[in-house]
Amino acid sequence: MDLLMGLQVLWTIRSWRNRDRWTRSQMEAHQAHSLHRLREQAYRSSPFYQRFHDGMESRPLYELPVLTKAMVMEHFDELVTDRSIRLADVESHLATLRGDDRYLGRYWVNATSGTTGRRGLFLFGRSEWATVLASFARGHEWAGRPVGIAHRMRLAEISSTVPWHMSARAGATLSSPWAPTLRIDASEPVDAIVDKLNGWQPEMLVAYPSIARVVAEEQQVGRLRIQPELLFTSGELLTGETRRRIEGVWNRRVFNQYAATECGGLAAECTEHRGLHLFEDLVIVEVVDSDNRPVPPGVFGDKLLITVLFSQTQPLIRYELSDSLKLASGACSCGRPFALIEEIQGRTEEVLSLSTPDGGTATVQPGLFHRLMDAVPSEGWQVVQKPEELEVLVAGARADFDGEALAESLRLGLAAQGIQVPPVAVRRVQAIPRGATGKAPLIRSELHQMARPRQ
Ligand SMILES: [Zn+2]
Repeated sequence: MDLLMGLQVLWTIRSWRNRDRWTRSQMEAHQAHSLHRLREQAYRSSPFYQRFHDGMESRPLYELPVLTKAMVMEHFDELVTDRSIRLADVESHLATLRGDDRYLGRYWVNATSGTTGRRGLFLFGRSEWATVLASFARGHEWAGRPVGIAHRMRLAEISSTVPWHMSARAGATLSSPWAPTLRIDASEPVDAIVDKLNGWQPEMLVAYPSIARVVAEEQQVGRLRIQPELLFTSGELLTGETRRRIEGVWNRRVFNQYAATECGGLAAECTEHRGLHLFEDLVIVEVVDSDNRPVPPGVFGDKLLITVLFSQTQPLIRYELSDSLKLASGACSCGRPFALIEEIQGRTEEVLSLSTPDGGTATVQPGLFHRLMDAVPSEGWQVVQKPEELEVLVAGARADFDGEALAESLRLGLAAQGIQVPPVAVRRVQAIPRGATGKAPLIRSELHQMARPRQ
C-alpha cells in the first residue's frame, strides 16, 4: 500500500470539491485551459501528434482527426511523450505483472480485455494515476459520503482481479485508506461470493450490475444476509429492471458509475438520481454519430470521442469509445455544472445487425432486448447472436418460466422491426458465462469479428 499515493489521492479529491459549485463558464474556461496545455505537451513531445495534427495545431478540437485504439497501438512508441517507453517492453512487463508493479519504476500500466479485437494498453504516471484513483472515489463523494480518513466504511468490491485490469490495479495501489476493502473475483461461484460477503458484512457494496443482480437474488432467498448502506454498480450496462431489483431487496438507492480503462472514472450519479454526471473537468466528451458528427442532447449517439485532459504520458485527443449514450437536455437540481447522461444503452457491439426479408440488413438496438428480457423473473440473461440462431440464455429462472412464450415475444419484437426472424432458442443455464474480466454482457455477437472488424 502506497501511503504517499493515498495522501495524494485524498488531497486531489479535496481539491475537486469546489468544482461542484463551479458555474458552466468556469467549467468551460478550465477545459479550454487544460486542453491547451494537453495539446502543447503533445505537439512538443509526441512525434505521432506532430504528424497527426500537422498544420492543425490552432484548429478547434472538433476539427481534429479521430483517434482509434488501433492507431494508439500501431503508433504506440511515437505517441507517448516519454521516449524511453517501448511497446514491446510494456507488453513483457504486463505479462509478469504483480500487485502494484510499475513499468520503468514510474508507470502504472492498464489493459482493456480485448474482447472486441486487439487489446489496448494505457500508461499513467504518478500524478495521472492519482487522478484516476481520485476519479473512482468521486462517485462515493457524490453519493453523499465524503471520502477521508475519518469516514472509513467497510467495502466489498466484486469485479475483476486479473492483474492488468484497472479495478485490480487500483486496488493494488490503495487498499483504500478510506475503506478497508474485501476484493472478490466476479468469476467465482455464487456460493463462494455469498460466503465471503456474509463473513465480511460490508457497509458498501461495489459490483458489476450482473453480479449485483445475482447477489440481490441470494439476499432475497435468505442465503445472503448483509445490510449495505451504499450500493454502487459499474463496469457493465445497468438496466432499469436490474436497478429496481437491487434497490428493492435492500431498500436503498443504487449509485451507478461509468468508467473506461483509458481514463478511469468518467461519470457518476449524484443523490438526485437524474442520470450520471460526466466528469467534464477531467475528460471532454463528444457524443457523435457514426460519421463523427455531434448528436444533440436527447438523442442516442453511436459512439463517444473523449479527450483526456490529464493524459500527459499517452495523450488521448478525440479518442473513439464505442459506447452509445444520450445526454439529458435539462440540468440536474443538485446544481453541479457537469453535463448529465440521461441514458446509456450499451456498446456499439451490442447493436445487432440482422437480415431483412428483402436481403438487406437492419440493426436492432439493445433496448428491444432490455424491454423483453428484463420482464423475465431471473437472475440474469444474455442474448448471443450465432451464425445459425439467436441464442437466449436465462439463468436462475423460476419453475414456471415459459421459454417458448419468451421466444415467441422475441420473434414478434424482431418481426415488428422488419427483421427476417432467425431461429430463436431459449436455454436455461445455471449461470451466465463471464469473460476474462468477469463481465457478462447482456448482448453479444459471435459474428462481429467476421462482419465488422474492429481495432
Ligand atoms: Zn446532480
